[in-house]
Amino acid sequence: MSLIDLTGRVAVVTGARRGIGLAIAEIMAEHGATLVVSTRTAETAQACAEALASNFGIQAHGVVADVRNSAEVSGIFKAAFAQFKRLDIVVNNAGILGDGLLGMIPDALVQDTLATNVSGVIHAMQGAARLMRRSGGGSIINIASIIGTRGNVGQVVYSASKSAVIGATRSAAKELAAANIRVNALAPGYIQTDMIAHLSPEIHAERLASIAMKRIGQARDVARVALFLASDLSVYVTGQVIGVDGGMVI
Ligand code: NDP
Repeated sequence: MSLIDLTGRVAVVTGARRGIGLAIAEIMAEHGATLVVSTRTAETAQACAEALASNFGIQAHGVVADVRNSAEVSGIFKAAFAQFKRLDIVVNNAGILGDGLLGMIPDALVQDTLATNVSGVIHAMQGAARLMRRSGGGSIINIASIIGTRGNVGQVVYSASKSAVIGATRSAAKELAAANIRVNALAPGYIQTDMIAHLSPEIHAERLASIAMKRIGQARDVARVALFLASDLSVYVTGQVIGVDGGMVI
């Protein structure tokens, strides 16, 4: 028997169509969870849910939500309740990265990044907390970044947004602990997804050289730690930021 069994637990994963979000949705499904996956179009929502259901033999429901829109975020939780009547796990994964040196940051980038990476997470925690209280508790996992703890050249906006995620995680953990709702963040390092595909070979080599384990991370590496935080193995862990970076920050 597996050490982790999420059978009977309902998990929401935002931005589940690809990358880290998909890997997290898959590992939760592999361990028996019922999934509510949010993506940005009806086609991808349905396709994502159908693939999870057929590949892992679990129940899955797809919801359309642009996380910049609070009503659409609220819709994810309405759908979770309507479909499955409870909520145990929420992974706030949807996020964007737009680089720009301080003097060259368009306002649209600031607004878009904060709306996606920060407001989206806060609204989702509100929806999650309401439903989790009714379910007797739960685990909220916010995907931050090592850039949120240590900053980076050309990433003032992104690092501000991910620092905000860390602050919101710690505050929510304090507020929600009495309701048996744990709130933690993951801080991935350099993970092979579409988000970093635009980087030049030189920057790629520089990043690799800064990783103690000397390899790029895979989405599955992040998903394994999310699984730990979702499971009862971490029942006494809240308000933490766990690095998943192969030793990029030590
Ligand atoms: P991807 O670019 O591969 O995936 C991002 C996901 O977020 C996509 O599913 C995308 O949806 C979704 N998304 C973006 N904007 C919105 C929005 N407004 N509403 C709803 N969904 C949205 O990136 P990753 O998988 O790498 O990133 C996942 C998370 O991990 C992000 O929060 C990122 O900041 C974080 N991270 C990634 C690192 C890395 O090295 N890759 C390192 C540290 C943190 P769609 O498919 O429709 O475009």
